[in-house]
Amino acid sequence: MLKINEIYFSIQGESTHAGLPCIFVRLTYCNLRCTYCDTEYAFYEGKDMSIQEILTEIGKYNCDTVEITGGEPLMQKEVLPLMTQLCDKGYKVLIETGGSLPIQNIDPRVHVIMDLKCPSSRMLKKNKYENIEFIKPIDEIKFVIGSREDYDWSKEMIQKYDLLNKCEVLFSVVFGSLKPVELVNWIIEDALKVRFQLQMHKFIWDPKEKGV
Ligand code: SF4
Repeated sequence: MLKINEIYFSIQGESTHAGLPCIFVRLTYCNLRCTYCDTEYAFYEGKDMSIQEILTEIGKYNCDTVEITGGEPLMQKEVLPLMTQLCDKGYKVLIETGGSLPIQNIDPRVHVIMDLKCPSSRMLKKNKYENIEFIKPIDEIKFVIGSREDYDWSKEMIQKYDLLNKCEVLFSVVFGSLKPVELVNWIIEDALKVRFQLQMHKFIWDPKEKGV
């Protein structure tokens, strides 16, 4: 059984898949407490569902892309067979993880979108840098940047781990903390080959809206 906070159909708001229709499966629980967290409602609330029940729910939507998110979805071990079964059924599967738990057992067909937590998240010590070794070209590493210190730290990580030669690197702002234009100006000044992104769903709907 997996504890599921919500399953809903919307459009992908982030990553290189932004703008495309997507079914979201949000798993309960998170082992982190980022300062800017916008999904605290997923820390404890949810209902128990079997993999079969989750697959049935997903099958109700006319869409072949599924994102597994949270919370921290890797906290529940059964998420691994769930993703494999989704891949077997022909879904394109994405997983958003905070980057503090091992990713090496994830089905290689899954697109992993992994955070490296910046200093202002206050979760820096939780980053599991060993995960970088298992990042594939189809994966994405995301930095959520809230300050100049975060930006400089992110640049350092890109260089240290040669991230631009491993996968797509995403830079986004902590919503409401750093103006997008500031981050964009820094990227341009440095001609940094990262992909800037906005959390599209926060502009389409009310930023506090759940299930979108
Ligand atoms: S990892 Fe995600 S869900 Fe967990 S505290 Fe951080 S922002 Fe919130």
